[in-house]
Amino acid sequence: MELCTFEINLTNKEITFVFSDSDLKRPHKKTTTVSFDKVVADMINVNYNSIREITNKLEVKIADGKEVNDPISAELYSIMFSSENVIERIIASVVEYSHLETKKQMNKSLKIKSWEKALKTYHQNLYEEIDKSKAFVANGFQFDKNHAFDMTVSFDNNRSARVILKDSFRQFIDIFTYMVYLKDLHIFTCKHCGAKYLAVADMDFCKAPECLEEREKAKRRTKRQSRKYNPFIRPLDNFHEYARGRKREMTLAGATKEELAAFEELHKKHADYIRGSLDAFKNKDVMPDDEFYQICKSFKKELKNRVDYVINQKRNKA
Ligand SMILES: [Zn+2]
Repeated sequence: MELCTFEINLTNKEITFVFSDSDLKRPHKKTTTVSFDKVVADMINVNYNSIREITNKLEVKIADGKEVNDPISAELYSIMFSSENVIERIIASVVEYSHLETKKQMNKSLKIKSWEKALKTYHQNLYEEIDKSKAFVANGFQFDKNHAFDMTVSFDNNRSARVILKDSFRQFIDIFTYMVYLKDLHIFTCKHCGAKYLAVADMDFCKAPECLEEREKAKRRTKRQSRKYNPFIRPLDNFHEYARGRKREMTLAGATKEELAAFEELHKKHADYIRGSLDAFKNKDVMPDDEFYQICKSFKKELKNRVDYVINQKRNKA
């Protein structure tokens, strides 16, 4: 019997699940692939209430001496096949697995009490596992040193590393967290959306498209910042900025195309000189010196004189 099987892709950090109601005559199967980050998000956001309602109902039915009926299975299958939360789907599958096994193994008419006891013990165990999982999430996904991973899993003989999950929720959590540990992944919080994500080192942002966009923006900001303080780039940027400002003044004052072109030519000539000097400093691995900065200053002065001259001419004409 296979209700939930999964295969871990360590390279893509993804898990492919196959959920199936394989105990029925015509099994219905559904395959879902989720990222490790989605598993983490679902571990944080899982709502255990609907499962709790079902396990309570199961216990009442059994205590009443009634056979566990299909409507309860149907509720579990509905969670397995359509919940958005993969952890809820896994729990529904392990609960249904145990309930089907119990049904198979016990003769209800003779041993109703032991059936009841077995299911109660199973549920108790399950909620202890769930509490551990909750504590693990609350603890920032850090296991305590003494945690022993439960790796007593069944593998599918036909396919390597395809795990058949039976009735243990803990097995899934242990396998998943062990893989996280193997890949040396840690939990970080996205600066943009606040979601938790797994990575080897803090990337500041998760992989949601809008957060990746934020990451690009932040990168560009840092690049601008470092350019701003780079002594081999900044003087040239500064000279261009200065030239742009003066050119704007000339344009506003009504300078002709020819006057603007002559100004641009002067700007370019000086910019070339500044660029060449900066390259030379960089190649020699020495910082630009005072003399260089004096030259830059004199170039600016020259541009300013040119602009003042043109503007004064316009004023005198008017
Ligand atoms: Zn994000």
